[in-house]
Amino acid sequence: MIQIQLSERQEKIIDIVKANEPITSENIAKTLKLTRATLRPDLAILTMSGILDARPKVGYFYTGKTTFSFISEKIQGIKVAERKSIPIIVDEQTSIYDGIVTIFLEDTSTIFVTSKGYLSGVVSRKDFLKNAIGGLNLTKTPIAVIMTRMPNIIVTAPEESVLDAAMKLIEHEIDSLPVVEEVILDEGDKAYKVVGRITKTTITRLFVELGNNE
Ligand code: ADP
Repeated sequence: MIQIQLSERQEKIIDIVKANEPITSENIAKTLKLTRATLRPDLAILTMSGILDARPKVGYFYTGKTTFSFISEKIQGIKVAERKSIPIIVDEQTSIYDGIVTIFLEDTSTIFVTSKGYLSGVVSRKDFLKNAIGGLNLTKTPIAVIMTRMPNIIVTAPEESVLDAAMKLIEHEIDSLPVVEEVILDEGDKAYKVVGRITKTTITRLFVELGNNE
């Protein structure tokens, strides 16, 4: 496990190594007026976490890595596949009324829409509101009329990092992304199968877990 909070002594050791590399543990100990045995646990933590590199008979080097780069490496290593949740999907022919019922029943803010089983659109809460006050016949009008449609849908994929997915949410100012797998249809066209979703809640939950070091 990465130790995020370094002790004052460990910070001092890093400064000494930065200024004097390569430097032996004996010389680090001398500089700090401590014994080598006292320093051993600190040096072990610093090398295990990758901040220092120990070369036999040469001494310690500073790798240039910070505790922050470990946090970001860790986040970049988390894939969408590990964090995706179950998507709420309806067919294009579903009425706007049934779509509204679905967001209440499923306690979701966004519905993904499919045609012949493949992603064709996205409908958000505000899309419903905008059209509900617009005088449309909600029970007769299909959801396809009000959805944001392909190819304008921002998607993510199981192998993408959660960080990239979070950046898409921010950049496009949206609440959720369908997680898709690309398929090639008989006619050679590409289509997306929806296999999950990543939402702002996914990212918030991950943030809390990382903050609590879970
Ligand atoms: P809300 O509109 O309820 O605030 P969003 O911010 O997610 O929810 O949606 C804003 C607009 O972007 C809506 O018109 C919605 O259809 C569209 N939208 C939502 N998610 C996506 C997506 N993944 N790709 C493209 N457009 C999207």
